[in-house]
Amino acid sequence: MNRQKKGVNTICTHVGEVEDKQFKGAISPLYMTSSYAFEDVDVKRYPRYFNTPNQEALCEKIAALEHAEASLVFGSGMAAISTALMAFLQAGDHIVLQQTLYGGTYNFVVTQLEKYGITYSFTEGWKAGDFEKELRPNTKVIYIETPSNPLLTITDMKAVAQLAKKHGAVSMIDNTFASPVNQNPIDFGIDVVIHSATKYMGGHSDVCAGAVACSKEHRDLIWQSAICFGGSLSEYTVWLLERSIKTMGIRVRAQNSNAMALAAYLYKNEDVDAVYYPGLPTHADHDLAKQQMKGFGGMLSFELKAGLDASEFMKFLKLIKPSMSLAGVESTMLSPVKTSHALMSAEDRAKQGIGDGLIRFSVGIEETDDLIADIEQALEKIKSKTVLT
Ligand SMILES: *Cc1c(COP(=O)(O)O)cnc(C)c1O
Repeated sequence: MNRQKKGVNTICTHVGEVEDKQFKGAISPLYMTSSYAFEDVDVKRYPRYFNTPNQEALCEKIAALEHAEASLVFGSGMAAISTALMAFLQAGDHIVLQQTLYGGTYNFVVTQLEKYGITYSFTEGWKAGDFEKELRPNTKVIYIETPSNPLLTITDMKAVAQLAKKHGAVSMIDNTFASPVNQNPIDFGIDVVIHSATKYMGGHSDVCAGAVACSKEHRDLIWQSAICFGGSLSEYTVWLLERSIKTMGIRVRAQNSNAMALAAYLYKNEDVDAVYYPGLPTHADHDLAKQQMKGFGGMLSFELKAGLDASEFMKFLKLIKPSMSLAGVESTMLSPVKTSHALMSAEDRAKQGIGDGLIRFSVGIEETDDLIADIEQALEKIKSKTVLT
């Protein structure tokens, strides 16, 4: 397909536009209508059929970005995830999921699947062998996240895709952390790529949306459950997302280079015990990350030296904001122990390597030196406080 030969920034700016035939405007007009003529037309358009002009244009852009045949956009990342899973699973089926899942996905699996008679297993680790061990004759889906949250482990996409194919199962990935700029799982044989578009695709912390990208055949199957679950999004959000994606390539590349610089700075800092970033040669999965990622992403995490309180440290930051979400142009941090992984037992957290002092850092597009200066001043403050008290 010709569009796939274009570079990321060209796809971001040009592919999947609604042509303004009436006024020849530079950007897609927004069709803020939920009602379309149904007589004498080939396509019956309706927002919950996922086929309005703005939806179809955005889907073309996202499909091109993920080297996929087709795409669907949803009202949230969770709508995309739950709809895609329910399209491929039915009573009696089994699914294998990577242990280090996004909290919402984990919650969906453990609270909903049993109601439908679907069984599930979580892997112990993230190596291909860990997935193979959990396979059962009725396993229909293998679901991965790479890089993972919050320790940025890397799963071998090609190995998992092959394992799924051999077993007659569908392979799915949550590609949110990498974004399509840094990682295209379909090139490695993965069947269904899912995004929380709330994150890097939106990029400005102002939209909530989700997307799947896959073959036309899989898209049609997901569409069947999508029209039933009804997780479509407003036309205005679709339009905003198209606008946001135009700058995704330059945003994410700026975040890649900032994150690399920040990871290197933190690694050398004597107040930091550990840094987790796939771009660091010291990262356990660095070689695999190099093989399957074009950039190492804007997410990293680090552990402060024992005795330095992570929450106190974050309170002293002036530029970097504490935030539950991630992937905006602004830098944010959170403590997984206090937020995303608070419901998990201390024992389970320890098993996954999530310590009390761990901080997840979503690196924005600010000047690198300003981010470093902010961390420096917060460390100085917390150290003087720690000595005083
Ligand atoms: C945020 C997020 C989701 C869920 O997306 P929503 O848009 O909040 O529904 C899923 N996976 C990952 C990795 C996320 O970061």
